[in-house]
Amino acid sequence: MYDWLIVGAGFAGSVLAERLANERNERVLLIDRRSHIGGNAYDRYDDDGLLIHQYGPHIFHTNSKQIVEYLSRFTDWRPYEHRVLAEVDGMLVPIPINLDTVNKLYNLSLTSEELQGWFAERAEKKDEIKTSEDVVVSVVGRELYEKFFRGYTRKQWGLDPSELDKSVTARVPTRTSRDDRYFTDEFQLMPKHGYTRMFERMVRHPNIHVMTQTDYKDVKGLVPHRRVIFTGPIDEYFNFQFGRLPYRSLRFEHVTLNKRWHQPVGVVNYPQTHAYTRITEYKHLTGQDHAKTALTYEFPSAEGDPYYPIPKAENQELFKKYERLALATPDVWFVGRLATYRYYNMDQIVGQALATFRRINESLPVGADTTAVKVVSPSAARIS
Ligand code: FAD
Ligand code: UDP
Repeated sequence: MYDWLIVGAGFAGSVLAERLANERNERVLLIDRRSHIGGNAYDRYDDDGLLIHQYGPHIFHTNSKQIVEYLSRFTDWRPYEHRVLAEVDGMLVPIPINLDTVNKLYNLSLTSEELQGWFAERAEKKDEIKTSEDVVVSVVGRELYEKFFRGYTRKQWGLDPSELDKSVTARVPTRTSRDDRYFTDEFQLMPKHGYTRMFERMVRHPNIHVMTQTDYKDVKGLVPHRRVIFTGPIDEYFNFQFGRLPYRSLRFEHVTLNKRWHQPVGVVNYPQTHAYTRITEYKHLTGQDHAKTALTYEFPSAEGDPYYPIPKAENQELFKKYERLALATPDVWFVGRLATYRYYNMDQIVGQALATFRRINESLPVGADTTAVKVVSPSAARIS
């Protein structure tokens, strides 16, 4: 009898498997329907020996020392500050929009102070910031919004920014400085030997049995277990009984070129041209020294694996219905980006999983058969 059947071997499932096995000495069956562990953070060596991210670029960044310390048990790190350029009006300029972006694009030589006034003249006043359009036009005005955000967002989400919650484009700030880093978090690191190696060390424990290419629906009635942690799409768990929750998908095109470098930075965004949103060149991220170079093109799509929950009020309402069902389902915990329907980064998922573990540990005596008090709400994701 397993104490836990954990569905999904991404960050949410693997962190919980590790905690339950190590801290409570409980027996865990960790399954994933894919052929590997690591979830969307899975990386692998391609045929030429280049380390690539199977599901698009994953850059670790966080302000939580606790989360870095926790993950450091399973990996060493390589410092990496992510920089992104956008191809706009035929030029490669920094995104997030900063002083150099505006000066280069408009052939100006503004100072930081002057740029503040320049933005203020163009910013559109909004009584309330609600949408992903409002967030940007209220700071930089309509022209830069159209150049950098409108086309990219329509491609990425199949929706106009005016139809998306403000939180989506709010992920990308605007700066009047020359800081061209994509993130400003205190910790910006990449696992030294890749994410998959880190996951392997996390789940290597005599009490954790890992089975890949195994779908929950195929084993739930076969394998005796006391409790479940489900990290897949929550609507799927409940047989879509209230209708499907929309998730956005991507098609990844991985390419290897017979030259050392393709582009000056890890990621180049294409807000105005092409069907793909961005090109990633992994050697910038991994620091690998190799005569060839590996790229990934991302083509957004409505069909395919669920990658992004779509932040929009009506989707959140539908999720709430499923969340109510989840809370009323004893002995099943819902954790992770798909099960809590939140556009979370990796560190936030680690934080959510650790918080869930604490809750389980506080409410459930080791080895007990009793049903624990369960909390599924996003507040579980608070990083303390
Ligand atoms: P997942 O990694 O999605 O894991 C869930 C697993 O459950 C999957 O492997 C799936 O196969 C499995 N599963 C689902 N249903 C079943 C079932 N019925 N039976 C068996 N298995 C099942 N975050 C960052 O911090 N930095 C980044 O740079 C970054 N870049 C990203 C780029 C892209 C293109 C994407 C899509 C995401 C990115 N993220 C990034 C977010 C990051 O991927 C997630 O925060 C994190 O991987 C979520 O972990 P998870 O365990 O919740 O979900
Ligand atoms: N975005 C944009 N243009 C850009 C970069 C981002 O319009 O050049 C918008 C787009 O809607 C995107 C969101 O901002 O989905 C968040 O960007 P981020 O780079 O965080 O996306 P992720 O890496 O999560 O796909």
